[in-house]
Amino acid sequence: MKRMAMAVSLLMLLCAPLARAAGPIPVAILDGASGGAYHNWRLTTPVLKRELEETGLFKVTVITAPAWGGDFSQFHPGFAQFRAIVMNYDAPDWPADLRAQFEKYVHDGGGLVIVHAADNAFPNWPAYNQMIGIGGWRKRDEHAGPHWYWQDGKLVADTTPGLAGQHGARLPIQLTVRDPEHPIMRGLPPVWMHASDELYAGLRGPGENMTVLATAHSDPKNHGTGKEEPMVMVLRYGKGRIFHTTLGHDVFAMSCVGFMTIFQRGTEWAATGRVTQKVPKDFPTAKTVSYRVDIAEMDPGFLNGASELVK
Ligand code: ZN
Repeated sequence: MKRMAMAVSLLMLLCAPLARAAGPIPVAILDGASGGAYHNWRLTTPVLKRELEETGLFKVTVITAPAWGGDFSQFHPGFAQFRAIVMNYDAPDWPADLRAQFEKYVHDGGGLVIVHAADNAFPNWPAYNQMIGIGGWRKRDEHAGPHWYWQDGKLVADTTPGLAGQHGARLPIQLTVRDPEHPIMRGLPPVWMHASDELYAGLRGPGENMTVLATAHSDPKNHGTGKEEPMVMVLRYGKGRIFHTTLGHDVFAMSCVGFMTIFQRGTEWAATGRVTQKVPKDFPTAKTVSYRVDIAEMDPGFLNGASELVK
């Protein structure tokens, strides 16, 4: 007993300085613009912030950019003070000096997290399109790059001309893990159900230095491509690590335990290159969704149309 107590206190002595030195990881969520009212960053940013803070790993700062078309001359986000930037943001363009600051930040090793419509942003900014790998809408077409999808156990690039970006009605989405050994996916079931969300399909882009971690079937009966579309991926840009998920249309989609888990893990990986978080016990299975909904956070307009989903 005494020996055990000594062993425990020795362990505590060894671990305590490490734990203190590590401290919370400074990350920022960038918001302030979206392609339309259907991406309500005022509702979704607090959910993303809470999910990161729940892990106890992060110190989260919210940076709200000026409205698109507004005055960016006083906007100095200081990217370098953060280990990762979470983009809950979709604008058509940025001033050149701000683009240069952002490129330098990621190139020098800053982490980047792309959530859902952040891959609609900046269609004509080549470096941003390299960071996200694939994107959609805002008139992207074959000039943005090929349509990337999963076929016969590997990623293929389809150069057939066409517009980039489509999705059907919001339905639960079955995800298939394609890289189970990646730290973000380790320990997750090989197939799992994500709560109702938009299934992005037909995204196009350079797809360089991109590893697809999970895909989903895009059903032609629900305005889909019939392909296994990339849903979760990681990329490199210079020394920077990028985690990109096309999931997360709204508060409900973000309340899926599967979304939460990969978002929390993906942000840690983008910031540090490691994942220390366990898979939660209520993680969804191959057949059932799992979500933790705070009704107060939800868009009343959405609730009216989908009350049967919230039980
Ligand atoms: Zn959406």
